[in-house]
Amino acid sequence: MKCKYCKKILSDDDDLVLNYFNHIEINHYDSLDNEDKIMHDVRKKMLQSKNESELKKKNVGDSDLIFNAKNSEF
Ligand SMILES: [Zn+2]
Repeated sequence: MKCKYCKKILSDDDDLVLNYFNHIEINHYDSLDNEDKIMHDVRKKMLQSKNESELKKKNVGDSDLIFNAKNSEF
């Protein structure tokens, strides 16, 4: 798909949404109108919370180790 704000073509692969989001964040954020800025910020929060929940999932496996390491200090 073509960028709405410049002539860059973004390839239609699985990461298109993320690629387009990053492209706008880097190149066009300042030129977004208010409504698009709000949409962009909402999307940003969603992406961040998605990343955080994925990080938490990864850390669950390690939590026992951390717990045991803390206990062994006493
Ligand atoms: Zn662009």
